[in-house]
Amino acid sequence: MTDKFTTTQTNRLVELNAEPEVFSQEFDAPEVRNQFFKETENRLVKKNRDKLRTLLKQQHKPLSIRIEEQIKTWLTEKEGFTQVVTPTIISAEMLDKMTITKEHPLTNQVFWLDTKRCLRPMLAPNLYVVMRDLYKATREPVRIFEAGSCYRKESQGAQHMNEFTMLNLVEFAGIEEGTQMERLKQLAKAAMEAIGMETYELVIEKSEVYGETLDIVADGLELASGAYGPHFLDGRWGVFEPWVGIGFGIERITMKMGGYQTIKRVGKSIAFLDGSPLNL
Ligand code: ATP
Ligand code: MG
Repeated sequence: MTDKFTTTQTNRLVELNAEPEVFSQEFDAPEVRNQFFKETENRLVKKNRDKLRTLLKQQHKPLSIRIEEQIKTWLTEKEGFTQVVTPTIISAEMLDKMTITKEHPLTNQVFWLDTKRCLRPMLAPNLYVVMRDLYKATREPVRIFEAGSCYRKESQGAQHMNEFTMLNLVEFAGIEEGTQMERLKQLAKAAMEAIGMETYELVIEKSEVYGETLDIVADGLELASGAYGPHFLDGRWGVFEPWVGIGFGIERITMKMGGYQTIKRVGKSIAFLDGSPLNL
């Protein structure tokens, strides 16, 4: 007879971010298991406590914030992008223009505030307007980005949250037609270099409606999605120049870089800070 951890023990070990090998342990008797659990729990409590102490005394910024800042610094200092900040509450009309109508996969994921307004599930609608109007105003190539919360009703799971942080860059005009995918790849690689992410793949997909898209993927987990135009939606926004855009999921990247199995430990939370649980 061999014993494995009880469900309660397993949950506690997950919460404390135990190493994967801990979970596969088997024991000859419950007493041996309980003893091992107690020792492991104590060790992990200490590890998490030390990590929180280091955060408070030295680091001061969680990994997710540092990653977001690294991308922003790279964009503003190396690539000439400008940061914009737009509302998290958007109109039904803006959403309609993204063709988020009944058939769209995102339809059932939108948090409605009333019949006319919702929490943005993506940054693209606001960025379409800002890039178009900035171009009209200046007639200069537009390179802008926004970093902020997006909201989607998700069935939770280890890789999705209802509220997450997207950093979306767009580059508009000044891109030669036919070179968009090259530019997307260049930006994707430079972004990964800026944060020190070495193991990732660029996955290109082709769709009749959406054209070519580029995903940044690490161990099967999507970290970011890129697209480019001319795109079938552009006309509705009064956009007629080539553009490229990439949306990075900040918590997805943090999860991978921090070696965490679940996203909620690095997301906006009152139960976790910088990957560590607060109930130690
Ligand atoms: P997935 O297929 O993984 O659900 P998606 O393709 O629907 O993601 P996009 O619309 O491409 O997501 O959003 C851009 C990025 O935002 C994704 O690559 C991912 O990193 C992140 N992201 C999307 N939805 C969530 C979520 N619910 N929680 C955390 N991050 C998310
Ligand atoms: Mg995607």
